[in-house]
Amino acid sequence: MTKNIRVGVIGVGHLGRFHAQKYAAMDHVTLIGVADINNKRAAMVAKESNTTPYSDYRQLVDQVDAVSIVTPTTAHFEVGSYCLEHGVDVMMEKPITSTLDEANALVNLAAKKECILQVGLVERFNPAMRAAQERLTLPLFIEAKRVGVFTRRATDVDVIIDLMIHDLDIILSLVKSPISSISAAGAPVLTPHTDIANAHIVFQSGCTANVTASRVSPTVERRMRLFQPGECLTIDFHGKKCSTMQLPANGDEDTQSPIITELEVVLTDALEQELLEFTHCVRSRSNPAVTGAQGRDSLAMALAVIAAVQKNTRQLLQTLCASGADSPLLRQSELLCPK
Ligand code: NAD
Repeated sequence: MTKNIRVGVIGVGHLGRFHAQKYAAMDHVTLIGVADINNKRAAMVAKESNTTPYSDYRQLVDQVDAVSIVTPTTAHFEVGSYCLEHGVDVMMEKPITSTLDEANALVNLAAKKECILQVGLVERFNPAMRAAQERLTLPLFIEAKRVGVFTRRATDVDVIIDLMIHDLDIILSLVKSPISSISAAGAPVLTPHTDIANAHIVFQSGCTANVTASRVSPTVERRMRLFQPGECLTIDFHGKKCSTMQLPANGDEDTQSPIITELEVVLTDALEQELLEFTHCVRSRSNPAVTGAQGRDSLAMALAVIAAVQKNTRQLLQTLCASGADSPLLRQSELLCPK
């Protein structure tokens, strides 16, 4: 008989509520409780998932084998360290932590305690991504575009940590080569943080990725194009579709034009798949698809893009300063252009 895994969810705001719902509906998993510093929120989510609310996550940790940590990122390190120290397996929402030092410390602690540490880079579980994965051979050039309309959510961090990190993680998982250079540009538009950014990443293998993310777009688009010998694969994360563009196998070279073929996508719920994988790893003590180390590497790449954007912004400000022009960007930056 399969033993039930005892799980908890720490932080049940917008996303944590869905984690609780998914665990509550799983076979061979018992949702022991949910914890949130907001008592009302904990009570509401606990009631709908038929479990126990806690205001202090430490009371929950003593009773479980594994947790999802879905607090704001600034709390990931403190809560994650406590859980791992107590031998509890962790599914950490993305980004793994706020800083690289914290990420390294968590990865090392998980190894020392022989705990599973999975990171919630959920697009890896998008069914369109899974359909593409079977055809991927050698990506030579990658174009990624992840843009959405403005909402007030996650505006305490920039669009690189909020959205672009998903594409950076996927690109890192596909292009197994060290990064040779990153250049990037971006701008704060509706928040004090970068709301739109573009990064140009060159790998030592020669593969190049051009990645755009925006949360100030009039439309929603989440698409990645992977160019590899003989074909271009298009992954539509938003529409959950995947297609390939190739020349027909037989035909007159002068007249043949590429044909686009839709690939079969088995529609599944990405978050459910991610949490099923986590509970499977907890049970079988196997490595997850997105390990703590991979979560750390995605954060490192995102921080490198942020640094490249900041370098570019400084140049932009210096040009604006020198021109004497007035602009909102200049007014925000008294540091570089003191009055
Ligand atoms: P949210 O603000 O809606 O929810 C966070 C919850 O955590 C709140 O209810 C808050 O009261 C609670 N909380 C804060 N500190 C706590 C603590 N010490 N102990 C217990 N509870 C605490 O935020 P959200 O949008 O649900 O995002 C949560 C996390 O999930 C963030 O790290 C975010 O980056 C990540 N996220 C990931 C994705 C994805 O695509 N994988 C999407 C959205 C959010």
